[in-house]
Amino acid sequence: MRDRQALAIVTTVHRLSTADALQSSDSDYRGLFEAAHDAILIVDPSSETVLEVNQRACEMYGFVRHEFLGMRLDLLSEEVEKSRSLIRETARGGLSTSIEAVHLRRDGSKMLVDIHSSVINYQGDWAIVTINRDITERERTRIELETSLSLLQATLESTADGLLVVDTSGKIVTFNQQFVEMWRLPNELVDQGNDAEVLDFVRDQLLQPQSFLAKVRQLYQDPEAESQDLLRFKDGRFFERYSKPQRLGGKSAGRVWSFRDITERKKAEEATRHHAYHDHLTGLPNRMLFEDRLRHAVAQATRGHQMLALFFLDIDRFKTINDTFGHAAGDRLLVEVAERLTSRKRSGDTVARLGGDEFLILVNNLRRVEDAARVAQGVLEAIRPAVVIEGHELHVTTSIGITLFPHDGADGETLVKNADIALYRAKDQGRDGYQIYAPDMNARALEKLMFENSLRRAIDAHELLLHYQPQVDTTSGQITGVETLVRWRKKNGELVMPGDFISLAEDAGLIGPLGEWVLETACTQGRVWHDAGFNLRLAVNLSVHQLQRPGFLDTVSRVLETTGMDPHCLELEVTESAVMQDPEQGIRSLGKLREMGILIAIDDFGTGHSSLSYLRRLPVTTLKIDQTFVSGLGQDDDVGPIVKAIIAMGHSLGMHVLAEGVEREDQHAFLRAHGCDDMQGYYFSRPLALDAMNELLHNR
Ligand code: C2E
Ligand code: MG
Ligand code: MG
Repeated sequence: MRDRQALAIVTTVHRLSTADALQSSDSDYRGLFEAAHDAILIVDPSSETVLEVNQRACEMYGFVRHEFLGMRLDLLSEEVEKSRSLIRETARGGLSTSIEAVHLRRDGSKMLVDIHSSVINYQGDWAIVTINRDITERERTRIELETSLSLLQATLESTADGLLVVDTSGKIVTFNQQFVEMWRLPNELVDQGNDAEVLDFVRDQLLQPQSFLAKVRQLYQDPEAESQDLLRFKDGRFFERYSKPQRLGGKSAGRVWSFRDITERKKAEEATRHHAYHDHLTGLPNRMLFEDRLRHAVAQATRGHQMLALFFLDIDRFKTINDTFGHAAGDRLLVEVAERLTSRKRSGDTVARLGGDEFLILVNNLRRVEDAARVAQGVLEAIRPAVVIEGHELHVTTSIGITLFPHDGADGETLVKNADIALYRAKDQGRDGYQIYAPDMNARALEKLMFENSLRRAIDAHELLLHYQPQVDTTSGQITGVETLVRWRKKNGELVMPGDFISLAEDAGLIGPLGEWVLETACTQGRVWHDAGFNLRLAVNLSVHQLQRPGFLDTVSRVLETTGMDPHCLELEVTESAVMQDPEQGIRSLGKLREMGILIAIDDFGTGHSSLSYLRRLPVTTLKIDQTFVSGLGQDDDVGPIVKAIIAMGHSLGMHVLAEGVEREDQHAFLRAHGCDDMQGYYFSRPLALDAMNELLHNR
């Protein structure tokens, strides 16, 4: 507007003989000249001095008119050369020219001035008119605008979010590079700028394109609305989508869509959730998740009048495996068991690890009670094949306790608790088996728990004692050895036999201290007898758990040292079945004991299915024929030849042979006739308390 006004003045000034017009103060032209919003200066081209100025020029530059008149143009400009060449160029070409230059005010302050110059006729001569506009403010605004635009552009491009701006009709206004990359838009598509095609391309990647489009539509109908939602991609990615209206002058001008790739965060969340609900070692659901599933299953089975089965299982003698082969091997075994359990589960059933070696299986919608037994059989069979860990072939078995819903509990907690009790019972029954819960198990479980607790205190409370049973030479009747047999005298006076507490002590992890007490007490007594001049072999029973305990050999040497017992007079007995659980391990650890000079006896021989090849390799000094054979002598025709064969085999392997459980003269006679070296049994003596044993020894 102002430009046009100024131009009008200039053209007028140019066309008319301006001098008269300007000199006449009441003329319209003077009025126009003075009213102009821009400074107008008329300059003499040869002297480059000011001939005339308007009021606005005085205001702009801070000079009064008479100061202006005759002033050299240089004084106004900081860029003198620029101003001069403008004047000269205009003068030379006679054309209007324009430049921008920095001008000075009277007070020395600077301003940016936009200058248009052209030639005019002035007072009969030609002159140059310049129209000067102070554009300092405009320039500052322009720079500010440019800065904020470039800032905006930089922000747009530097954000990790993909941004898309559309107008009210849905046409794409702008987007950043991140948007293109996140949505994997091909360049052609971007270049074409076809909104519909872009939308199609975007939609095709989503798992739920319908809800994506519904949201877009909804927001077009409600331009003021903001929104935030989650987009799931077919390829597994997740975007968070935000949308805010873009407003211009209080009206909505479109909408900004921003997309944030939160796939990593989602994955982390997922992993954390998985972590919280799964066992880290096996990846199976943990107790928390299992209880949750069980709760649901119970609710569902209640509604549908269905039957559920809950299996509570643990690995037999897991602790021994852990102690013997180390935790890493134990962990691998757990993983293997977990795999075997999951591989045979039906979909919908849950296998969980409770911790340690305990697992739970939930079987939904069981049709008949017999099916539970069938499942249990399947599980036992699945676990039985050997597991090879660190070169060892481990034969692992499990025991299972089973509860059925609704028979054995109305809620998950009761079902688990009763299954645990049934498991206890299964263990009692000899492992590698299952038990379905029966209500009286509760009482028995409690009893067992109390028994275990009092056994725990038995050693410290000096409730354990040893009985001694002599072993005699079959021919001479001389006492050649003594077997120590542990007993537990409870506070109430009851005498508990080892058959009733040894395996419990093994399960409860008490066999270590118990065995150590037995060995130490026996060796102390052995030394006493030795010092008293009795040349006796002292036999001590070992549990296979003891043999497998790390540090067992150290314990033995320590006991030998502290008691002064001669290792050549100490005989350690291991049952045949125990050794055969892991013959290689047996060969190794028994070999070490032999190296210490200790004698090794295989107890209960004939019941443990030894293979002859192992027997040959076992560093054994004595075979103890199991009492079932001895008691069969004279009763069962098959037994005699077997006993004869065992004696012959033992001797051929260079072993000493002893018969257990000899109760009658005819048995004694048979054994003597067939060259059995020693015998032990009620026929000669029952196991005796220490005093009685001493008496027997001294009377002989
Ligand atoms: P074992 O080592 O085979 O001991 C022989 C068992 O047969 C003893 O039973 C003994 O009392 C019994 N016995 C001896 N002679 C006769 C007989 O003529 N007829 C009959 N019917 N039985 C006879 P006990 O003392 O009840 O011990 C049972 C088992 O407990 C032992 O069998 C042994 O395996 C284990 N045991 C005993 N003491 C210890 C111990 O200190 N540590 C470990 N780990 N086990 C032990
Ligand atoms: Mg024995
Ligand atoms: Mg025996």
